[in-house]
Amino acid sequence: MADLARLSLNTATVRERWDLPACIEGCARHGIGWIGPWRDGLAAYGIARAARHIRDAGLTVSGLCRGGWWTSVPRAQAIDDNRRAIDEAATLGARCLVIVNGGLLPDSRDLAAARARCLEGLAAVLPHARAAGVALALEPLHPMTCADRSVLSTTAQALDWCDALGDGVGVALDVYHIWWDPEVLAQIARARGRILGFHVCDWLQETRDLVTDRGMMGDGVIDIAGLRTAVDAAGYDGPIEVEIFSTRDWWTRDPDEVLAVMKARFERCV
Ligand code: ZN
Repeated sequence: MADLARLSLNTATVRERWDLPACIEGCARHGIGWIGPWRDGLAAYGIARAARHIRDAGLTVSGLCRGGWWTSVPRAQAIDDNRRAIDEAATLGARCLVIVNGGLLPDSRDLAAARARCLEGLAAVLPHARAAGVALALEPLHPMTCADRSVLSTTAQALDWCDALGDGVGVALDVYHIWWDPEVLAQIARARGRILGFHVCDWLQETRDLVTDRGMMGDGVIDIAGLRTAVDAAGYDGPIEVEIFSTRDWWTRDPDEVLAVMKARFERCV
């Protein structure tokens, strides 16, 4: 099983009840050494203040969520916003900036054009990211999100984009998005040296909603430990983020209970 020292709280897991300072304090209270904040919570709290609080609490930032979204706003605006996200990640000392690329362009059926726009945006901000020392972690999302969230759908495609972009880019692998892929183990092996983040939760057998009905590790059908073993075998020994969007269950519970369950399940299922 994975070492509990690798556990990171992605703050989305308790977002309905805790703001960022409460998440920081919660991690410290539960002995969790890593945190994965979101930019909205960061903006609300203040970036310098958040960076100081995280450091003072003895935490390290596994990844900042998130940059990308190249296709939903004009090109220049997306580039500006991603440069700001890179600066925020640098201020936090984050191990990476997680990139969710975005879906189709507005009023368009042109998937190739959407993918080209994403690659163009990534290439445009990459020099800034390299100069800031911030690695960009491309997160492939489940293909059901292709229209509205991510035209980057598989680990293979993410690694192809890494190949095209060069240094400073890697992948964030989320079991929820990649577990179904018949090529997943071969592609994880191919990702050696380019895995920047690893996210866990579970896929409930009867999922009601793709985005907001994720399960706690052990409650669903994903071979999480198997994927974690493959990621480790590919040389990844960094933090493992628990990222659970759950309107019907975990978001309704007391976050202290969520963190306690999360720790126990991490030890048993990851
Ligand atoms: Zn994720």
